[in-house]
Amino acid sequence: MPDKKENTMSDYILSFDQGTTSSRAIIFSARGEICAIGQHEFPQIFPHSGWVEHNPDDIWESTLQAARDAIEQAGIDVADIRVAGITNQRETTLIWDRHTGEPVYNAIVWQDRRTAAYCQQLEDEHENIEQLITDHTGLLLDPYFSATKIVWLLDNVDGVRARAERGELMFGTVDTYLLWRLTGGEVYATDATNASRTMLFNIHRQCWDDELLALLGIPPGMLPEVKNSADDFGAIRADLFGRRIPIGGVAGDQQAALIGQACFTPGMAKSTYGTGCFMVMNTGDEAVRSTHRLLTTVAYRLDNQVTYAVEGSIFMAGATIQWIRDGLRLIRDASESESLAHQTGYENPVYMVPAFTGLGAPYWDPEARGAILGLSRDTGIKEIVTAGLQAVCYQTRDLLEAMREDGIRPENLRADGGMVANSWLVQFLADVLGIPIACPKVTETTALGAAFLAGLQAGMYQSLDEVATLWQDDKAYTPQVDDEARAQLYQGWRTAVERVRSAG
Ligand code: ADP
Repeated sequence: MPDKKENTMSDYILSFDQGTTSSRAIIFSARGEICAIGQHEFPQIFPHSGWVEHNPDDIWESTLQAARDAIEQAGIDVADIRVAGITNQRETTLIWDRHTGEPVYNAIVWQDRRTAAYCQQLEDEHENIEQLITDHTGLLLDPYFSATKIVWLLDNVDGVRARAERGELMFGTVDTYLLWRLTGGEVYATDATNASRTMLFNIHRQCWDDELLALLGIPPGMLPEVKNSADDFGAIRADLFGRRIPIGGVAGDQQAALIGQACFTPGMAKSTYGTGCFMVMNTGDEAVRSTHRLLTTVAYRLDNQVTYAVEGSIFMAGATIQWIRDGLRLIRDASESESLAHQTGYENPVYMVPAFTGLGAPYWDPEARGAILGLSRDTGIKEIVTAGLQAVCYQTRDLLEAMREDGIRPENLRADGGMVANSWLVQFLADVLGIPIACPKVTETTALGAAFLAGLQAGMYQSLDEVATLWQDDKAYTPQVDDEARAQLYQGWRTAVERVRSAG
């Protein structure tokens, strides 16, 4: 930890990282070093199968508590916090009363699938609707994004549509809700990255999309102002932490991680290996349209200049290892997987295809189910565990192939998330992808990205180039197998995938 005295006055940044299962707050030094972390988990609410909700007060209270803990732990004066930034779980949808602040319902979480039938209905009733959505928003017609969650609230919660039409209600993603509460109702805004995940934002024109709003029957008056990712987002009320703190940066979690990994030039990509995996590549000022159902999204918007990204995700990354641990009970701790993989080596005849909830990009086969293939009498625990790790890497290669076929070529990759503690995994990843991989010193890339944005706004950094100099790698991995061995490994995976695909 940096010595407090090394920093001059007002040199700290408070970064809020409001995630799906916990709220965190991190105090960073101006050099991007972590000074203190506060973290509070909060309850997940599952009212029905496929439904996931959060209580807005839990989101708020856990956020406040995390920040208070971080400030106390850092042992700094609140006056020394120059600026704050916010990053958040994306797409999660809230509606609240503009006057009383009372939410009309719980937050509907990004994972929630309650609007699947409605999405199907939209597709049936409106020819080419998915085309329109992709053209305007870069996304796909899916319950994941905020738009159909808003419609559900308008149509299923008593009086909400009428109140929304009278202008009494506000919609927001989590950043907007936190901004609104942190500023005591003074600021009602979001940033372009969060807006780009609602399925209502035109990413080319950088405004709410009238055509989609009309089609879905959403009153435009219930949408926040869309600001740059580094912008004047008002200030935190003095009574919350003892002093007003300006808010200068906002970005959705995956975009914030791209910024925290300093992927500022086209072709730079980051991949986060947590429960799932999110790979995001900077495509510069070009909004690349994928032909493989990858998402086109706003990476960040600075001084009204948009930088775009392409995003692909893997449903089961660390979750595969969790299943091996808790479902199969083959290991007691995720970290045991590393030594087992060392014992197994690359010549593992076993392939695991973790298609527990179907196959994502580039197969898009929701009916497919998982399998373990290539078993023989001498197969043991270590081969199966290793196959689980390898599956995460092969799926990343699938994403990379999809990107390459769309004409975008990541030259290298910056990896983060809980799984990169496993060096065997990252080396295998470099070997399967055939590109170098770097893991950063500061692994809290999401919170760091929000801090960088806030620091830019506060004038602590003059440019993205200056921010990029703060990024440091902890460990670099270069591919060590030849092209033929790489092709052979990947071919084994493709054959295994073919065997689990559904007939459709
Ligand atoms: P999230 O933020 O999604 O909760 P984390 O970034 O904390 O996830 O990463 C935790 C995930 O990483 C878990 O799913 C766990 O199974 C996996 N994991 C943690 N350590 C290792 C390891 N050494 N080897 C393989 N997987 C690991």
